[in-house]
Amino acid sequence: MAYTYDSQNIFAKILRGEIPNDTVLETAHSLAFRDIRPQAPVHVLVIPKGPYVSYDHFAQEASEAEIVDFTRAVGRVCEMEGVAEGGFRMIANAGRDGVQEVPHLHVHILAGRGLGRMLA
Ligand code: 5GP
Repeated sequence: MAYTYDSQNIFAKILRGEIPNDTVLETAHSLAFRDIRPQAPVHVLVIPKGPYVSYDHFAQEASEAEIVDFTRAVGRVCEMEGVAEGGFRMIANAGRDGVQEVPHLHVHILAGRGLGRMLA
């Protein structure tokens, strides 16, 4: 499928410095910052700096350097936020059925409270 990236989305504006954010980590190819409407004591969004709409877009078209950087950034955020012991949830919503609000790939890292079962 051909992916169309909207460079006016809110995370693109954050990456361009047009909108402030509460940065947790910045790497060569990734940025992690706190969600503006946190759903748990820890709620961090990790995004690639490149123009990728969704995880499948990223996985198909990003360079290996970007993919390694993003994967390691998720790991570093987990370490920095101390979520390994208590556990955490990672979510990457995509598209209409996934109810993705912002069309720039982001992984939610949620932790710090019991998150309940998601799947039956
Ligand atoms: P989605 O539904 O696309 O997976 O989640 C988008 C997330 O982005 C939501 O959790 C929402 O609270 C967060 N969000 C939306 N706008 C902003 C913003 O301007 N700054 C930050 N830090 N988070 C945002």
